[in-house]
Amino acid sequence: MKKSFDATPDTKLFDEFPKESNFDVVIIGGGPNGLIAAAYLAGTGLKTLVVERRHEIGGGLATEETLFPGFYTNPHAIYHLMVDYIPVLKDFNLTNHGVTFVKPNLQTAQVFGDGSSLVLCRQVEDTKDSMAKFSPKDARHFGTLMRTWHKMVEGILAPGTYLPPLSPIDMIEALGKTEYGVEALRLTEMSPMEIIEENFTDDRIKTLMLYMSCMWGLNPRDSGLGFLVPLLIERGLNKAQCYGGSHKLAGALSREIHKAGGLILDNAEVTNIIIEDGHVAGIVCGDDRVIKAPVVLSSLPPPLTFGKLIDQDYVPDDLKENAQHWEWDPWSFLTVAVATKDKPQYKCDDPWVNDALMVVLGFDSYDQLVEHFDAVLSGKVSANGEMGGHVTVETTYDPTLPRVPGHEIGFIQCHVPNELQGGWQDHKERVGGELLRSWQRYTHNFSDESIVSKSIEDPKDIETRIASMVKGSIKHGDYNPLQMGVFRPHDSCVGGRSPIEGLYLCGASSYPGGLIIGGPGYIAANTVAEDLDINKWWQLPKFVSKYKEIYLT
Ligand SMILES: Cc1cc2nc3c(=O)[nH]c(=O)nc-3n(C[C@H](O)[C@H](O)[C@H](O)COP(=O)(O)OP(=O)(O)OC[C@H]3O[C@@H](n4cnc5c(N)ncnc54)[C@H](O)[C@@H]3O)c2cc1C
Repeated sequence: MKKSFDATPDTKLFDEFPKESNFDVVIIGGGPNGLIAAAYLAGTGLKTLVVERRHEIGGGLATEETLFPGFYTNPHAIYHLMVDYIPVLKDFNLTNHGVTFVKPNLQTAQVFGDGSSLVLCRQVEDTKDSMAKFSPKDARHFGTLMRTWHKMVEGILAPGTYLPPLSPIDMIEALGKTEYGVEALRLTEMSPMEIIEENFTDDRIKTLMLYMSCMWGLNPRDSGLGFLVPLLIERGLNKAQCYGGSHKLAGALSREIHKAGGLILDNAEVTNIIIEDGHVAGIVCGDDRVIKAPVVLSSLPPPLTFGKLIDQDYVPDDLKENAQHWEWDPWSFLTVAVATKDKPQYKCDDPWVNDALMVVLGFDSYDQLVEHFDAVLSGKVSANGEMGGHVTVETTYDPTLPRVPGHEIGFIQCHVPNELQGGWQDHKERVGGELLRSWQRYTHNFSDESIVSKSIEDPKDIETRIASMVKGSIKHGDYNPLQMGVFRPHDSCVGGRSPIEGLYLCGASSYPGGLIIGGPGYIAANTVAEDLDINKWWQLPKFVSKYKEIYLT
């Protein structure tokens, strides 16, 4: 009998991607960094391909119907801290693709159990007014401190995000040239707790400042990375939400890749990086599709790139060791996302709090917050049974998210150990339920009846969705002095160039690190263009050239 349909895919159906094809550059992973690297390199005329494991590109730039059809949420990145600096936005003029960011004045608030509250705003005077309720002295000092920290961010920390790292010795020499550099070096030797305690006296102000410093995974007690505190606080006061969902940014980048002749192969998991005569020769996908290319950029962390994708005979011993001993983020997030009929209204002395982009709750004192971080780092969900975290009602600044009008969408997110005894499946509902009840306790109106739908995601769920975030590692690996700067991921891979010829690294496990900062993808694209001696069509942003002039000449 003649078959009307042959279920075996005919390669003719896949003219774009036959069983074997050739590109100049292949990029593994279509997260923010992979897409950024691809957009720059495709723009040079190189025949560029991004290979993405999921059906959707974007990695952490996800906006999906996790609640139910028509209710979009941003399950991963929502707070965009670097929109004032990230070069890709201007180089590609991404507003042309409808990428816009909302940057509210009221950035972060904290509500306390006794009904008091603190707000942190882009306008320093508004923050000072709020702080003055607790400590006029801290409020005055905050103004002076932010002037210094802003200069440090603009002059050193932001530009340093878009250039390859310096060795510790070169860094000391370079930063020693200005007073802001010397201050950045001094802070580096301090722990987040020491920096907060040096600058603030009031218990509640210290609590929120420590939360802002450590919410992305810094250990509050560890020294060696203190320069990140001014960066995370100053940028944490200037965060933005991508209007229409974070995925808009991924969509815009993909259109730039296509416009330049590049391609994206989705639903394709890279299983092997081909090495021939010690040089990269391409990749193999899970369906045995072979894509040949003399240049491959991987946005996956070392245990995947060097530990799994490459035949171990070709991996230098020090990189094998690096892959084996790579430390994942010490904690991850558990998120309860909800669709509600009513916007949560907080039981507190300042109704403005209801409109904050982020609200922190559940920590009434500095000691309690420190105990919380200590507990999570020692593998416990909570220090004393109390749950706390940060909340964002996404619809406050992005009403486009629910396609069914009249509903609010938001989430509460808390730090949790990446693994629990018995596996997360045994704990997820209980922990998520307790977290949700904590949120409800701080509000007048956010009852079970007002919740239309909810979804809970634990660290294992994060890894299941995004395989590069192993154990829910949102930054693809811990921030500790041995995994930062030139050591991220290894000092033989500075600027993204690995010792295996033709292989580059471009993801969050490379310098400068995770979050939507665009540094690893941008730096790797620059390195590849330099190595291939290709004319870069883009210019270094002015703030980066200025930094080079002052510190690197
Ligand atoms: C719950 C959560 C909340 C977060 N919130 C924020 C936030 O508010 N602000 C912020 O700045 N950051 C946030 N982050 C962190 C941010 O999302 C990441 O640091 C960032 O996405 C890293 O970008 P990347 O491109 O390096 O890697 P990823 O985003 O991880 O992208 C890597 C891509 O590679 C793909 N991939 C994996 N394995 C393979 C394979 N074998 N073959 C092909 N493709 C593969 C993945 O599917 C993924 O698309 C959050 C993360 C999580 C999980």
